[in-house]
Amino acid sequence: LRSELDNVDRLSLVGQMAASITHEVRNPMAVVRGFLQLMQEKSPESLDHYYRIVLEELDRANSIINDFLSLAQNRIAEKEESQLHDIIHELSPLLWADANLRGQSIEFILAHNVPKLHLNSKEIKQVVLNLARNGMEAMNEKGVLTLETRLVGDTVELCVRDTGPGIPRGKQEKLFEPFFTTKAKGTGLGLSMCLSIVERHNGTITVESEEGQGTTFKVAFQR
Ligand code: ADP
Ligand code: MG
Repeated sequence: LRSELDNVDRLSLVGQMAASITHEVRNPMAVVRGFLQLMQEKSPESLDHYYRIVLEELDRANSIINDFLSLAQNRIAEKEESQLHDIIHELSPLLWADANLRGQSIEFILAHNVPKLHLNSKEIKQVVLNLARNGMEAMNEKGVLTLETRLVGDTVELCVRDTGPGIPRGKQEKLFEPFFTTKAKGTGLGLSMCLSIVERHNGTITVESEEGQGTTFKVAFQR
C-alpha cells in the first residue's frame, strides 16, 4: 500500500516538521534513558558496551536535528554508492541490545548478492531503525524480529518482519498518514518519515499483515 503523495507534502509544513523532530529525537533519548538506568545496576567492567551505545544515540539525536535543519534549508541529502548491508551491520549492535532489553530476539538473513545502491546512509538508517522499532513495539516478550535482504531481478528488497499481532486490514491504508498512531506516546510520524525518505530514493515501501500472524514491511530499491 502506498500513501498519497499529498501526505508527504503536508509533512513539509513547518509545524509538522517540528513534531517529527520531536518524534525522531525522542527515540534516541528513550534509549539513552533506558541504558543509563540499566548502567546503574551494572558492574563497572561491563559498562563500556553501554557507554558506546549511549554516545552513539546522542550523536544520532544530534544528526537528526542537523538533517531536519538542512531539509528546512531545502538542501537535498547527498547520496553515494552504499552497501545496504553496511548500514544494517552498523545498526545491529543497537538493534540487538534494544531487542534484548525487551526479551525479544532478532535475526538477520542477508543475501550475499546484494549490489551497492545510490543511498543516503543516514536517512536509510532512520528508515531501518523506525521499522525495526515499530516491530519491537508491536511484539511481546519472546517476539522475533527478522531483517531480510533479497535481490529479485533488478530490485533490492529489505523486509522487516515481526511476530506481533498484525494490523487489521481497515487500518493498513492509514499507517503512512502523518499523525496516525495507536500508541499512547506515539506521534504517528515514523512511517510517514520512512515513506518520504524511501520515495526520495525512488523506492517503494509496502506492508503485508495478517491479524495474529505478524507484519512485514518491505522496502524496495532499484539497483
Ligand atoms: P508511532 O510508532 O509513533 O505510532 P508510526 O508512523 O511509526 O508512528 O506507526 C504508525 C502506526 O502504525 C502505529 O501506531 C501502529 O499502530 C502501526 N504500526 C506500525 N508498525 C507496526 C507493526 N510492525 N505492527 C503493528 N502495527 C504497526
Ligand atoms: Mg514508530
